[in-house]
Amino acid sequence: MLLLENKTAVITGGARGIGHAIATAFVDQGCRVVLADRHAEAAALAAEQLVTKAQSPIAIGVGCDVVHAADIETAIQAGVDAFTSFDVLINNAGITRDATMRTMTEDQFDQVIAIHLKGCWNGTRIAAARMREQGSGAIVNISSLSGKVGMIGQTNYSAAKAGIIGLTKAAAKETARHGVRVNAIQPGLIRSAMTEQMPERVWTQKLAEIPMERVGEPSEVAGVAVFLASELSSYVTGAVVEVTGGRLM
Ligand code: NDP
Repeated sequence: MLLLENKTAVITGGARGIGHAIATAFVDQGCRVVLADRHAEAAALAAEQLVTKAQSPIAIGVGCDVVHAADIETAIQAGVDAFTSFDVLINNAGITRDATMRTMTEDQFDQVIAIHLKGCWNGTRIAAARMREQGSGAIVNISSLSGKVGMIGQTNYSAAKAGIIGLTKAAAKETARHGVRVNAIQPGLIRSAMTEQMPERVWTQKLAEIPMERVGEPSEVAGVAVFLASELSSYVTGAVVEVTGGRLM
């Protein structure tokens, strides 16, 4: 028996990076996935690759901007229409707009708060409403180590990622008695398009803080997402799991 057999998961920002790695790990565990990403074409292409891998219809891609609640409703409904169930939501979509407070524009602050924090709230409340009706479901919110410690140049991102922790715990308390679990992951430095934009100097500084002396791979975040989405974590809710190689523990 696979860990997510016959489950359906919606993964926001699933077209690439950590979201796509989570989708790949879920498919490997028998899950059907909806890749809900801002670019419908990229989502559809990424889903096709997963279908080829599994040789059966187990993935679809849909256009979805998490800032708009209706888009998340549509993505979840697309999963129900295609696969007849909805069991897991991964709130993963994200961007960075780094700048020190001296130079950060109000628009850069608002964009990051809207996509990470409001996007996560949209996803969590919409998923939880459906899941409590059926008496089961798991929601996993992707926070960041930046939300634990605060990073220079990320007053927007650190605030949003810390907010996701409060949101996760409050939602976990509201939904626990309805059979819904809500947990968060705080990744550290993970290899993806988001981190590849970083200047060499920043990358080297961050690496020096990691006891395991290496960057993490998206698949290493995905393994924890499988745990939190599956029955292996049936008594875990409101938890925050760090995936950081021991950095800033
Ligand atoms: P990527 O930039 O590689 O992937 C993010 C995906 O989310 C992209 O496909 C992006 O599309 C999509 N996206 C952005 N905005 C929206 C939106 N409004 N609605 C739907 N989809 C959207 O990033 P990562 O894979 O690195 O990051 C994934 C998550 O992990 C993020 O929440 C990030 O903050 C978090 N994280 C990452 C870390 C890392 O080291 N990489 C560390 C800690 C946390 P588009 O191409 O349009 O931007």
